[in-house]
Amino acid sequence: MSFGKTFWPEKIPSLSRIPKEVGREERRCEACGRRTEQIFYEVPKKVTFLYFKNHDDNLHATCVSCARSVVITGEERERVFESLRSG
Ligand SMILES: [Zn+2]
Repeated sequence: MSFGKTFWPEKIPSLSRIPKEVGREERRCEACGRRTEQIFYEVPKKVTFLYFKNHDDNLHATCVSCARSVVITGEERERVFESLRSG
């Protein structure tokens, strides 16, 4: 029994899997406790063989000081998206 012909080969490169920078903002880093500039990324999530941009954990912030990333969720995520959209 073979599944070989039913799926796309995974080696096809896809730009959609690369996290996209959506903006920067000064905020307190949960990792190092400092208030630094953080870079926000929209991170696609792979579900079976598709990537979804809109999912609950798609917003990551990377601290420019310690380079650690956190997932932004809930109200904070809404606030960041609002703030980034309004410029
Ligand atoms: Zn930090």
